[in-house]
Amino acid sequence: MSLPQGEQVRAMSIWINGTGEGLCFKTHTLDYEHKCVEELPKWNFDGCSTFQSEGSNSDMYLMPAAMFWDPFCKDPPNKLVFCEVFKYNRKPIETNLRYTCRQIMDMAGNQHPWFGMEQEYGCMGTDGHPFGWPSNGFPGPQGPYYCGVGADRAYGRDTVEVQYWAYLYAGVKFARTNAEVMPAQREFQIGPCEDISMGDHLWVDCFISHHVCEDFEVIATFDPKPIPGNWNGAGCHTNFSTKAMREENGLKYIDEAIEKLSKRHQYHIYAYVPEGGLDNARHLTGFHEASNINNFSAGVANHGTSISIPWAAGQERRAYFED
Ligand code: ADP
Ligand code: MN
Ligand code: MN
Repeated sequence: MSLPQGEQVRAMSIWINGTGEGLCFKTHTLDYEHKCVEELPKWNFDGCSTFQSEGSNSDMYLMPAAMFWDPFCKDPPNKLVFCEVFKYNRKPIETNLRYTCRQIMDMAGNQHPWFGMEQEYGCMGTDGHPFGWPSNGFPGPQGPYYCGVGADRAYGRDTVEVQYWAYLYAGVKFARTNAEVMPAQREFQIGPCEDISMGDHLWVDCFISHHVCEDFEVIATFDPKPIPGNWNGAGCHTNFSTKAMREENGLKYIDEAIEKLSKRHQYHIYAYVPEGGLDNARHLTGFHEASNINNFSAGVANHGTSISIPWAAGQERRAYFED
C-alpha cells in the first residue's frame, strides 16, 4: 500500500455473471487516469465460466457504465468500474438486464423516479454456519439482536465498520446500516438514487461488501431465508417515488400506483424468480415480518404487507412507498 504507484492507474471492472446474482471482477492497468466513464477502454473476458457464453464464441465485452473510487487501494485515482456485458457481435447479452432497464428508465425519465433499496443479508462463516453462532447449536431466540449493541448481540461489527468507510470512500450513495432481527444478519440501505444509478450503486455496494468480508473470513449470503425455522429471512425492500408523488398531494399518485401494482402481483413476483426458483417463497410466508407471496396487500407502516406506505408519507400526504 505504501509503494509509490507512478503514473499508472488501477481499474477493477465489475460485472454480474449469467446467474443474475453472482459478481465477477478483473483488474486492469490504465496508462493514465480517465476522468469519465465514456473515456474508459472496453475490456473483455471469457464467458465460458461465468454462465455467459453462447456456443462457440465465448468472448464477451465489458462496457464501462459507472465509475467509483477504489477503496482497496490507498491513493486515488484508482477506480472501480461497473460494466454491462455485450456479445462478440456488440449486442447486449440476454442477461444484461441493465440494458433493458436503461431503455425503460429513459422512457420514464420525465417522471424522475427515485429508488432507495434496503438490502438485508446474512453473514456466514466459511463453514456455512452463521457467523458467531455456537458451532453446535443456536444462539438465544431472536428479539434483542435488532439494532443490538454488545458482544452477545452485535455479531461481526468489525466487518460492518470496515465496509462503511469503504462505501463512503468509493462514493456509493450509502444511507445507513443496522444489525437485523436474526443474529449475524445485517442490512444496508442505498439511496435515494435517480433511475438507473440505483442498480449501479447497489451492485457496487454488494461488491465492496463481499470483498471486505473476505478479509474477515465471512461470506455474505443474500439467500432470502438462510436458516429455516423461527429466524427472520432477508429481503431487499425497494422504496420508490416519482416527482408527482414527492410534491403536494403526492399520496394520490401513490394510491394510483398501488392500484396498478395490485393487478399484476403474480407477474411481478415472477420477475423476482426468473429461473422459476422458489427462493422467495421460503421467505414470503406471511410470518416473520414478511407478506404472503400469493396475496397482494397494502397498508401504512405495516411490514407484513406487499406494499407499505411509511407512516410519515401517509401523514404528509406525499413522499414514497415501499415494496
Ligand atoms: P427506514 O426504512 O430505515 O425506516 P426510511 O423509510 O426513512 O427508513 O427510508 C428508507 C429508504 O427510502 C432509504 O434508504 C431512502 O434512501 C429511501 N427514500 C427516502 N426518500 C425517498 C423517496 N422520496 N423516494 C424513494 N426512496 C426514498
Ligand atoms: Mn430491515
Ligand atoms: Mn423499510
